[in-house]
Amino acid sequence: MEHRLPTRDTAAVPDAKISRRALLAIGVVAVVLVAALVAIAVNQGGSGGRAAAGGAPVPVRVIAFNDLHGNLEPPTGSSGKVQQGGGVSVDAGGAAFLATKVAQLRAQATNSVLVSSGDNIGASPVASALFHDEPTIDVMDELGVAASAAGNHEFDEGFAELQRMQKGGCQPTDGCVFRPDFPGAKFPILGANVTDANGAPALPASTVVEVGGVKLGIIGATLRDLPSVVTPEAIKGLQFGDEVAAIDKASAELTKQGAKAQIVLVHQGDEGAGGGPSDCSVKPNGLATAIATKVSPDVDAVFSAHSHQQYVCTVTDPGGAKRPLVQGLSFGRLLSVVDLTVDPGTGDVVRDRTAARNEVVGRDLTPDPAVQKIVDEAKEKAAPIASRPVGTITADLVRAGGATGESSLGDVIADAQLEAGRATGAQIAITNPGGIRADIPFAPDGVVTYGEAFTVQPFANIMQTITLTGAQLKAVLEQQWQGQQSPRILQISSTLHYTYSQSAPPGNKITAITVNGTAVDPAARYRVAVNNFLAAGGDNFTVFAQGTDLQGGPIDLDALLDHLEAHPNLAPPPADRITATP
Ligand SMILES: [Zn+2]
Repeated sequence: MEHRLPTRDTAAVPDAKISRRALLAIGVVAVVLVAALVAIAVNQGGSGGRAAAGGAPVPVRVIAFNDLHGNLEPPTGSSGKVQQGGGVSVDAGGAAFLATKVAQLRAQATNSVLVSSGDNIGASPVASALFHDEPTIDVMDELGVAASAAGNHEFDEGFAELQRMQKGGCQPTDGCVFRPDFPGAKFPILGANVTDANGAPALPASTVVEVGGVKLGIIGATLRDLPSVVTPEAIKGLQFGDEVAAIDKASAELTKQGAKAQIVLVHQGDEGAGGGPSDCSVKPNGLATAIATKVSPDVDAVFSAHSHQQYVCTVTDPGGAKRPLVQGLSFGRLLSVVDLTVDPGTGDVVRDRTAARNEVVGRDLTPDPAVQKIVDEAKEKAAPIASRPVGTITADLVRAGGATGESSLGDVIADAQLEAGRATGAQIAITNPGGIRADIPFAPDGVVTYGEAFTVQPFANIMQTITLTGAQLKAVLEQQWQGQQSPRILQISSTLHYTYSQSAPPGNKITAITVNGTAVDPAARYRVAVNNFLAAGGDNFTVFAQGTDLQGGPIDLDALLDHLEAHPNLAPPPADRITATP
């Protein structure tokens, strides 16, 4: 059973079919390194290879998902597709398909561990959201998740609720609405850089799992910029420290405990640049790349998240060795697979034998019956709650823009967001048309249900209030024309008015901007309520990202629900906020 040449046994063989993709992902350099290692082993008669020191190398397959966001049912529209490159896409996702795919990937491997890089819950569809995501935690327990990082959305409902997700028990206000009791996550939710006001750990930094006789250390961390994407009340008393410093501290601790094979689950991600699932197609200066490049050389692989992108990259650690950095889109559409090889003598990963790829969770799989049962139960129980009335309207609220691009539902949502932003000084609100996902129809009786409101604003975007100068406000409105066929008209609150010229050149289209009826002064400062997507410069509205004095607010859906509650028999506002001239 002794193998003289470590590259020809265990981990490499079951993956022969994918080795081409894996090698592409790891890069030509790694191929050369593997070849060099083989050459050294041969020259030294097989005694010099590191993996040969303490018996046969131990293959450890790490399977990961990220940003599941409670997608128990197969996600729809573009959220349910994987771009495979070359303009080809395939339907993917759905928890019962995910479970089957996990089982297949486990069956191919001698040893396997399933992990997540966070945002498992929060910003989730009705079937999970209505039950405070308890069904999603139940599904993750059923899947046998070994550990997860805390994402930002794990904090959406506050730290006490996150602790309940971990420990179980009924929701203090709503009780146990999904099942008679909630056992909580069987896996640890990790956050090495999350501390309380005194700097004491608020979440465990790491966990160790025994797999194939070796100790695998798993470190979890969330984005240090979490306070900019979570409402302040939810994270009161918590601090979010530098990811690299916290990971390095946890890594040193693990090394001390003898867990030398280490992986990091970090809820931060690079922006994609349009490649296929296992390409390394990312924009430069990525936040996850920075972390994955800087953390301790003791870390053997980095699983990222948060940006909902697909990539399989290789970065060089501070010691000069390569390690993979991966992310698998979101909503359970992809599973990231990193095959590590551990030298049982040292307990450490033989780096140049690592292979990584993303695998599509296709809809042609047979749904896993145990997970499907949980999904069906959540769907059935959600139906009556989704029909709960949350407001009344006098006519259809539609998201399609009229002659000027202004829409009745856009007006209502912007007004709701202005009201929500008043506490942080907002004078106007601006929202992106792409964030309004459905109409609110009057039929049959003018009653708006929770399910309808939820379908309109399903992303749980966080409201933020920023300061823009009058000049920046004009610039952002000019950015509605950026070479597209048709302009992307932002939806605005009743306190903002302006005129655009259809014939004037881009950059010169906007005139007569007023805030509360007063002409906008280019040098004056205005408080603007926007969602976190726009605040970050989303949809190429880059000027929003120049905003200052950012303060967090509620989730956009809650702003809409509050507005509907405060304004019964809400009528579609007249389309008089935007004026167009020839
Ligand atoms: Zn996130």
